[in-house]
Amino acid sequence: MKIIAIGRNYAAHAKELNNPLPSSPVIFMKPETAVLKDNKPFYIPEFSSDVHYELEVVLKINKEGKHIAEKFAANYYDEIGLGIDFTARDLQSALKEKGLPWELAKAFDNSAAVSHFIQKTALADIKAIPFELKVNGESRQIGNTQNILFSFDQIISFVSQYITLKKGDLIFTGTPEGVGQVHPGDKLEAWMGEEQFLNFDIK
Ligand code: ZN
Repeated sequence: MKIIAIGRNYAAHAKELNNPLPSSPVIFMKPETAVLKDNKPFYIPEFSSDVHYELEVVLKINKEGKHIAEKFAANYYDEIGLGIDFTARDLQSALKEKGLPWELAKAFDNSAAVSHFIQKTALADIKAIPFELKVNGESRQIGNTQNILFSFDQIISFVSQYITLKKGDLIFTGTPEGVGQVHPGDKLEAWMGEEQFLNFDIK
């Protein structure tokens, strides 16, 4: 499986990092070795002194597809969860400055914390999913998918023009504003609506 992640999909987050709003989706990938499951702790890697959390709604692809038309894109995912796109912001800033790819900052081991998944039909409104991240009990990110620039269907259609999607692939759909640094001893908890999806420690 692979993870496809969308950058700058919430205007307020693009702004907080001084990035322009994209005219088409900005994507990057994380390999299977990036997955961190079952609320296992996240260990801050020694190569960064500024790892950020980015809470994101995650889609699980349910069948193979390429060149998927937007109007059929909803048939390619049934399950939704939450994830943290851990980002070595110091490395990313240095790479961005040089115009280089972001992989070292985004694709490292355990950089994609992933929750359990629920059926999308269990959600009241898939176009307006509320989600929240608390760090040490304090609210840090409050998001709602009604604010995304590129919809789930647009993302799936766009990505599949270039990259075949396969069953089990995950799509991280972008983070809202409020990203910040993690520190050893932090507790990260994330909710979709009233249900807790993530609860793990930073070490
Ligand atoms: Zn992200």
